[in-house]
Amino acid sequence: MRKSLNYKVVHVRKLLNEASMHTETFSKASNLHCQQGCYSCCLKRDLYASSLEFFPLAYELYKEGTAETVYDKIGNLPQNAPCYFFTPFEQNGGCSRYNDRGLICRLFGFSSNTDKNDKPRLITCKGIKQTDAFQNLLPSVLGKSPNFSDFYIRLASLDFQLANEQLQINEAIHKALEIVLNYESLRNRRIPA
Ligand code: SF4
Ligand code: SF4
Repeated sequence: MRKSLNYKVVHVRKLLNEASMHTETFSKASNLHCQQGCYSCCLKRDLYASSLEFFPLAYELYKEGTAETVYDKIGNLPQNAPCYFFTPFEQNGGCSRYNDRGLICRLFGFSSNTDKNDKPRLITCKGIKQTDAFQNLLPSVLGKSPNFSDFYIRLASLDFQLANEQLQINEAIHKALEIVLNYESLRNRRIPA
């Protein structure tokens, strides 16, 4: 069955909320935290994501009436510019759309994948790896970390092609906006009498 855009927005949003809930629980259990004032993830120029994980963000912008403006502004950014929504002056880690951020923004640092021996490996940054909390991380606690691949498999169940197309972060957001704007423009088109 072909899934509607609204269906995808609602279910991606559920997945995003779940990812946040699990990473927060793991952060508390492991005592792993981002370093205060570190925004390195958002500043990465080679940060890749799918457009699908930004459907809720694109849809929120559409409802707020700013989707077209943001679409144009992102379209004019230089290639590989850091994420459009990063701002050093905002709270919550420099993300100006923290509640709408993508799956990669929520999972990186606090999720894991399994290695060839089926042992979980944390997907995280150098800074976190250097902390005492990481050095002392017990396998039993690491085993409770959310599984990165599981979340992306669930994302792919909503739209296999869009979930697997990895784009530079601004391109991913741009494409999500384009899909939402095209969809809404078709939906709102009047049927001639
Ligand atoms: S995951 Fe690491 S690099 Fe990213 S914001 Fe947290 S501490 Fe910084
Ligand atoms: S959406 Fe927010 S959290 Fe994600 S890369 Fe952009 S600024 Fe960072």
